[in-house]
Parts: sequence; structure tokens; C-alpha cells
Amino acid sequence: MLAQVLSATVLGVEGHRVSVEVHVAAGLPSFTIVGLPDASVRESRDRVRAAVQSSKFSWPTRRVTVNLAPTNLRKAGSGLDLAMAVAVLVATEVLPERAIQGLGFIGELGLDGTLRPVPGVLPALDPLADVRPVVAQANLAEARLVRPESVGVTDLVELVAVLRGERAWPVEPDRVVVRLAPREKDLRDVQGQHIARSALEVAAAGGHHLLMTGPPGAGKTMLAERLVSILPDLDPGQAIDVSRVHSVASQLRADRGLATRPPFRSPHHTASLVAMIGGGSALLRPGEVSLASGGVLFLDEFGEFPSAHIEALRQPLEDGVIHVARALHHVVLPARFLLVAATNPCPCGTGRWGECRCSPVQIARYRRRFSGPVLDRFDLRIEVDPPDPDVLFGSDSAGESSSAVRDRVIAARRRAAQRGVTCNRQLSGDALEHHAPLTADGRDLLRREMGATTLSMRGAQRVRSVALTLQDLAGEDGPLDARRLAAAILLRAAPSRSEAAA
Ligand SMILES: [Zn+2]
Repeated sequence: MLAQVLSATVLGVEGHRVSVEVHVAAGLPSFTIVGLPDASVRESRDRVRAAVQSSKFSWPTRRVTVNLAPTNLRKAGSGLDLAMAVAVLVATEVLPERAIQGLGFIGELGLDGTLRPVPGVLPALDPLADVRPVVAQANLAEARLVRPESVGVTDLVELVAVLRGERAWPVEPDRVVVRLAPREKDLRDVQGQHIARSALEVAAAGGHHLLMTGPPGAGKTMLAERLVSILPDLDPGQAIDVSRVHSVASQLRADRGLATRPPFRSPHHTASLVAMIGGGSALLRPGEVSLASGGVLFLDEFGEFPSAHIEALRQPLEDGVIHVARALHHVVLPARFLLVAATNPCPCGTGRWGECRCSPVQIARYRRRFSGPVLDRFDLRIEVDPPDPDVLFGSDSAGESSSAVRDRVIAARRRAAQRGVTCNRQLSGDALEHHAPLTADGRDLLRREMGATTLSMRGAQRVRSVALTLQDLAGEDGPLDARRLAAAILLRAAPSRSEAAA
């Protein structure tokens, strides 16, 4: 007896179609799974057999072989359980073969036959576009985000009854789907902090990574949390990409619909390297760099992160993806985020003359973490001081709202789109020559800066792209002049100023 049932497996954030073939033959009773199952799939054996028996269907006392095709593709996770059980039931003629035509099955089985949700249903449904998905009830809301015709069942007994035509698909009680976007914090709450607010706006418009240095209580976290509120909505393609990563991580709130707003992630410096970049032994988990993809990755107390974590950011910052090595293969996950880091000026946190209790050696060691290649990633480096009490308690202290700032950000990004990029940070040196010409005094200023300070060739290009973003936000055109470039230099000045002071 041979039976064939459609399912899917997820590698990284990609779904792959899997045909589950079951062959029941004469011979000593056995149950074998072939076709490149990983350890998590091999465990299906015990679950599938127990689930079938607990549901009062007989298990064949013959030789049962499950083949997962295509055989050169690795299969991971427990989502193939349901398809295996259904295929066995077809092979033993508990279910008629025609009953499973046009259906694809995804779900994990409990020993008692209940159907459990699996992570990554969203990408798993991609390769099953031509069939109606059957998933666990608990996965149904998520599945219907992309495939409204999906059906959900709670256990194997219920599924068999439906497939035999003894009852209809369970109808979900009508539910009011409340699509609550998570409440974003508004920039209106930030008083004073003109430079920091401006840096956030430039970061959002140009995709420039931002480093904030300042004592505890200066409001660095308050500022970083508000950066997402001035980013544009995700476009439909990004929404699917972001939702897919969060689906694999079981972090998608299906009741909120597909993600439409950029994510905000702020891992603690004690997070493991796997938690940061992704990995895991049995099931692949996207890391913080992938969960932040399409949005903001905020690293508070940046100086406390182990250097391996910071080193691991290099590839995502350059390529927008992260390669996660696993036992026998590696997967590529999206990791295109806006990086915001915050740090104290020195280990004791005050960084002020007369108050700082740190030795020069301690300060030097602390600063070394932000030197060279890491520091180079930040186009914007600002100092954040606690707001002036006069500003806090002044009469007209309310800041501009996020939606007003976001409108300028969207307009600036529209200009970047005309240059063929999402945001100005992506412009290469040649593209900057073309799109961001300099006036004579602008060129002089850059040349002087490169002579007088540590501004590198690469640094000068970064200054130029920030200046272009400033011009876009102002809605102006023409070559970049000294005034505009000076403003861009000011926005990446913080650490050099501190170093000079130290
Ligand atoms: Zn100190």
C-alpha cells in the first residue's frame, strides 16, 4: 500500500514543499523515516504512532516506511507529523485516497492525537499555493493572514471524521479581529534635546546608524524607543518578510494581522550570541538581528556587549543578511536593521571632569571597544545630556509629534528612491559623486577636515551622505555647500570631541 500526502518544511525563513510517501509492506513490524530527516523529524516516529493509536485507529503490524521527498532536501521540525499520520491512515485504508486530494497538512501531533501549532506557518504555506492548507486550530489565524481558505482542526479524530465526510470542517465562531497596532511611543514626549531629535530624524530618513553617548538618565532609551514611530510603514513586500521571520520565531501576533509597522528590538547585553544572531540545535531560531530586520535594533549599554556580539554585527550591517551555521548546512536570514547604540561616556557613567572616578586606563579600555571598524558604522554620533530643567518645565515645551516628523522622513525617502536606493546610506562612493555634488567651499571644508582630523576617505563619504539626507529633509536641491556639510560633521562629532577631552 502506498500513499502520498503534501506538506512543507521550513529551513531558515524559507518554506519548502515536501511530499510525504508512506509504504506499508509485508515483513516484520517496523517504522522507518528516510529522506534526510534531522533529529527533530526522527522524533516524529514515536509521536505519530502514539497519536494514531490513541485516536483508536489501528497501527499496521507490518513494515512501514516513510519517505520525505525530495530526498536531497533537509527536513526539520515537527510540522510533518500530521502529514505522516494522514499518509499512514490512507495507506491502511482508514481514509480514502480521494479525501486528501487538494489538501496540504502542517502540524505537530501530541501523543494523544491532539494537533499542536508549529512555528513558521507563514513561510511553510508559500510552497503550498495550489492546495488548501490544513493546520492546527491554534495556527489558523496566522495561516489565514496569507491563505484565507485555510482550515484548522484540533485533533486527529476530528480530522478523520471530516475527511471521511462524516462532518464538515469545524467552523470558527465569528470573531471580531481587532487589529491593534502596538502602541508606539511618540516623539512629542521628548522635550528639548534638539540635536538628538534631529539625529533621530536623519537616522530614519537616511538609514544612518546612530551612536548616542551620555550619562544615565539623559534619555537615550527614551529617544531610541521613539525612532520606530518616525519610520514609514512597511511596504507589502517588507510586511511579508517581517511577518515571516516573526512567524518562524513564534512571535507573530496573528490577531494583529500582518506586521505593518517596523519592529523594535532591544536585546540586553547579557543575551547569548545565539539569541543575537540566531541558531539553535534542533529548531532554528531567528536572532535579534533578524527579528529587528525592517526596523530598529537598539543596543543599550553598547560597551557592555561582548566583543563577539559586536563583531557578529559586521556582516548584517554590510550585507543586510546573516549566515547562521548549523551542524550540516547553513541558512541565510534577513538582517537589515537600523542600528542605534547607546553608551555611557566612561565606566562610571558620569564622564564629567571632577565627577568621573575612572582611571585613564579604564577609560582607554572602555573607549577601545568603540574604535575603528565598529565606530565607522555609525554615521551619526551624538552626545546626549539630561534636558535642561528650564526646557522641561517651560511653557511651550511639548516637542513636535512623531507623525509630523514621519511625513518629512517619507518625503526624504521618496527622494532617495529616485536615486535607486531605499535610503541614502546605501549610496556608494560613485553614486554620491553623481547625486551629491559639492560646491567649491563644500569641497574645501571636507579637504580641511580630512587634513586636520581623523576623518578618513570613507568618513568623508559618510559625511556627504548625511549632508544629502539633511538636504532631502529640508526639501532643497543643488550641490552640498559648506554649511550643510558642517551640520553633517557636527552630527558625527561626539566621540572625537570626547577623545580630545580625555
Ligand atoms: Zn568615569
